[in-house]
Parts: sequence; C-alpha cells; structure tokens
Amino acid sequence: MPSIKSNTTIHGLQAFTQEVYGVSNDRYFNAWDMLTNVERFLMRGLKGIRKEDQEKIELNLIISLSWYMSLMNQLHINLEENVWHRFPYVCSYCGDLPCSCKSKKVKKRQKITIDNKLRPKTLKEFQIMFEKIYPSTTRTLEHAGIHLAEEIGELSETVLNYRGSHKDDDFKQVTLEAADLFSCYIGVFNSLKSDLATKLSIVFKNNCHVCKKSPCECSFDKIMHFKF
Ligand SMILES: [Zn+2]
Ligand SMILES: [Zn+2]
Repeated sequence: MPSIKSNTTIHGLQAFTQEVYGVSNDRYFNAWDMLTNVERFLMRGLKGIRKEDQEKIELNLIISLSWYMSLMNQLHINLEENVWHRFPYVCSYCGDLPCSCKSKKVKKRQKITIDNKLRPKTLKEFQIMFEKIYPSTTRTLEHAGIHLAEEIGELSETVLNYRGSHKDDDFKQVTLEAADLFSCYIGVFNSLKSDLATKLSIVFKNNCHVCKKSPCECSFDKIMHFKF
C-alpha cells in the first residue's frame, strides 16, 4: 500500500499523491478547484500561526501541500526538478548562500550556475538546504507565513495568466512560481523547527489519511467538509 516514508524524495511525494488521489482529482476537480483547496488549507495554516498552534499549522499546511502536489500532477510539472533548478543550493534571486538579498540590497535577479553535485536527494535534505539558504533565525514565523501567502497569490496569478494565454513562456512562469511556493512551505516548517518529511510520514503512513484507501474513495462531500 502506498505510504510516505521519512526518507521520501519530493518526487516520491508527488508520485504518492498521484497514486492515491489521481482518480478522485481527475473526476472531481479542475486546476481552479485545486488551487482553491491549496489556498483553503494554507489559510487555515496561517490561522494556526495567529493562534500559536503548531499542530494546526503543520497539519493544515500538509493538507495544503498535498493539494498543491495534485495541482503539480495535473499540470504535469516535475516539482523536484523545478525546485532544484530554481534553488541550486543558493538563493534564486541573489545567487548567494546564505541569501544576501537584504544585506546587499540586491535589486536585480543574478545569474545562477548549477552544481549538480550539491543536489539534495531526499525531501529532508532539501529542507536542510533551504535552512542554509534562508536561515530561519533571520525571520519570524509570522514573516515566513506572510511570505507563504504572497507566493500562493503569485502562483494563482501565473496560473490565471497561462489559462488565458496558453503560451509556453507563461507556463514557464507557473513552474517558477510553483518552486517559490514550495520553498515557502519549507520555510514555515524550518521556522517551526519541524521536520516536514517525518510529519508527512505520520499523516500519510497508509493510503489516504481519511478513508485509508488507495485510490482514495472519499466522497466529494467528505472532501469538502474535511478540516483539522
Ligand atoms: Zn537572496
Ligand atoms: Zn480518501
């Protein structure tokens, strides 16, 4: 039965989502519906920040992340590849490790070279990489949450743009914003000093976390009334 292990890769997480939720996603939801679900649980996660409730933050962001993986599957985006090319062990904007955007007041996106020897293998290693690029000691949890909210807005904007234009260049923007959003999910978990892969392995230790089936057999009604 499909499960997520604490040594999962980003690719493994995306494949798990497809195996368990691919059928119900295809039948019930289009890209807009999925984005709404990504946002819905992301905002519940932000509510957890306001309420200072770590479990509420973690669980809701994990469900948001699962919807986001479903969206990546529907758009046929290879997330791991995109994240690595956007953040090859340096900040995607200033190109430094750690990021020096603020201290050097970087105003222009710098050209980045990719050293594939540095590429993390597991999700856990990606989380460590993001902590090194964007140390959580340099921001508050609230700051990480606001950044996450900004990025879901930017992803939505690019999806809207692409659905209108159907141009390859606009699709490229979707993939870039998708990687930025992913970095911000990780950023919140780093601010919480919480290991995302381990949390995922608890929630998704056995098929769908609600109906315990694979493929998921949750009804539309059940999905829409689910909450942590
Ligand atoms: Zn930077
Ligand atoms: Zn289910």
